[in-house]
Amino acid sequence: MMKKPETMSQKESLLGRSVSQILELLQPLGEPEYRARQIYKWIHHHNVDHFQEMSNIPKSLRSILSDHFQLKTLQLAQKTEALDRTEKYLWKLADHRMVESVLIPESRRNTICISSQVGCSLGCQFCATGTMGFLRNLTPGEIVEQVLQVKKLSRHTLTNVVFMGMGEPLINYQRTIQASQILGDPEGAAIATKKITISTSGVVPKIYQYTDEAHHYGLAISLHAPEQKLREKIMPIAMKFPLDELMESVRYYMRAKKRNRVTFEYVLLSGINDSPAEARQLISLLSPFRCKLNLIPCNQNNLGFHPPAAEHLDKFIKTLLNAPFAITVRKNRGEDITAACGQLAVEVQEKAIFMK
Ligand code: SAH
Ligand code: SF4
Repeated sequence: MMKKPETMSQKESLLGRSVSQILELLQPLGEPEYRARQIYKWIHHHNVDHFQEMSNIPKSLRSILSDHFQLKTLQLAQKTEALDRTEKYLWKLADHRMVESVLIPESRRNTICISSQVGCSLGCQFCATGTMGFLRNLTPGEIVEQVLQVKKLSRHTLTNVVFMGMGEPLINYQRTIQASQILGDPEGAAIATKKITISTSGVVPKIYQYTDEAHHYGLAISLHAPEQKLREKIMPIAMKFPLDELMESVRYYMRAKKRNRVTFEYVLLSGINDSPAEARQLISLLSPFRCKLNLIPCNQNNLGFHPPAAEHLDKFIKTLLNAPFAITVRKNRGEDITAACGQLAVEVQEKAIFMK
């Protein structure tokens, strides 16, 4: 087997490995094939924190595994529950950086919103994560572990997973797909593949790759503006991948996925993208698509943006009423615990309690 790492933090998380990858590890040790499946089940079904709990695995193998791998790499730094029962988890990673996950309980589903990167390189103007810049990608193990730990720590049963926490999942493409495969594996965390949604701000080449690889996870496009100039202003990525190219890649995705719907996310920023004119532009832009438009009144942070006043929101929605696509309006969740994208991790770092 491999050389023993020098410190705890260098040990790889076993949570990001598929059954066949665990099998590859075990083969040189002369272990039977079923052993990989047993270990995988301990991790993803029984959700154990220690190799010692794997009671049907020989002691000698448990000890080899714990010399080289870890099952727990995220330390819970803070858990907060909002009045509306939204739960926010702030994690300290092995390198002391912080990321967050948010659990949103609703009547018919409980959605966990997970992070794919520490920070983000794309710098959308209204997004707290964007202000951090890019620090690093999360590993598949760190992505999967957010779900496994929340499964244990929350009293709600998880039904849906969305990549809408910190980071741009399509920039951390391979690791996001690897983590999604494990989360969606019936022998793994067993989240239905259709209930895993990857959200992107529009990394066009990766939307083509994702389509060609024929994955079954949902795709959400963070649109936020119905035309190029405005989009460029609030989302710098639009300069690299213009709106018409983004919409062309979504058309390509829709053609390949004959029965699917795509979701467009639209954060409403008062006085910026919330006038009836923008609503009308949205109708003509999105009408050719089988889609859902999810309107998200922006969460207050200190970036100078505000959600629309009630009467503006009303007018915007009324203008959209004749649109041929479905429209949902997201309730602002967990505002009392700063549960918007990246907000808590940024706040914690600003307060310089970046834990060591
Ligand atoms: N990078 C990906 C996924 C993470 S961001 C993306 O942009 O899609 C997830 C969602 O949080 C995006 O739709 C993003 O626009 C939204 N978001 C960011 N800042 C927000 C804010 N201040 N209020 C409400 N939603 C916000
Ligand atoms: Fe990055 Fe998404 Fe935030 Fe934009 S909205 S900065 S892409 S995390």
